[in-house]
Amino acid sequence: MTVNDYDYPSSERTDTSRQATPSSVYLALAKRASTTLVEPLPPKKQLLVLDINGTILYTHPFLGMFVRPGHGPFFDFIFKHFAVMVWSSADPGWVKQFCRVFGEHRSNLELEWSRMDIGLRPEDYFQDVLTLKDLERVWKVHPQFHAGNTILLDDTAAKAALQPFNHILIRTFDLDYDDVCYTGDNEFSKVQAYLDRLRYQDNVSHYMSKFPYDSDAPDLLAMAVPASTIATRFNFSLHGERELPPSSYDFKEGRVGSPPPS
Ligand SMILES: [Mg+2]
Repeated sequence: MTVNDYDYPSSERTDTSRQATPSSVYLALAKRASTTLVEPLPPKKQLLVLDINGTILYTHPFLGMFVRPGHGPFFDFIFKHFAVMVWSSADPGWVKQFCRVFGEHRSNLELEWSRMDIGLRPEDYFQDVLTLKDLERVWKVHPQFHAGNTILLDDTAAKAALQPFNHILIRTFDLDYDDVCYTGDNEFSKVQAYLDRLRYQDNVSHYMSKFPYDSDAPDLLAMAVPASTIATRFNFSLHGERELPPSSYDFKEGRVGSPPPS
């Protein structure tokens, strides 16, 4: 059974297949040459769709949520220049927890979307199925956004199968990966440098198809701040427990400290 076996329109497709492919309309739009503007687009004219787990933070079942180094300046940057929404394939209760990490910026999120918004069949909701993030669902709710001005930041390539040229494939933040713990992480500063270039593009899908984000690109490395091993740890508060203040956490040394870094 593939996605195309279901008699759903594109935005209603479920995600039981890795064979999902972009529509011809989408591909035609992504071919329309992007113009590099003299001035960046005004604030909020482009939409940034944020994945959470592996992109913004790492979750440990008992210890809580560990937010990627450099999130403070990154959040300040994206909320200043972009319309921002969350789209996680986790349950709504978890998404509510995750969104605490945005602090004062949270009220500026356009949407907080969860697994409920993926379009899964009921029998797939509790299964470990691939969850496609079809941006057409977002564009129905916010019709001012489209393939020309929407960017998905997600650490899983398959989730962007329907609009691959709107996708920044960020390196997964996972504290179980030895290389992350050893080298530290500075992905947010590199993504910020890339996003800053997108602000000058009138068709990001075309630009991103020609110049996809590459965590190892020399120019991004040159602009990036040094990698850090200091994350910020939040506790879970799933059942109304007290929300403890966040603390810093050196994931290379496995040490908790305070106060939290930005
Ligand atoms: Mg993820």
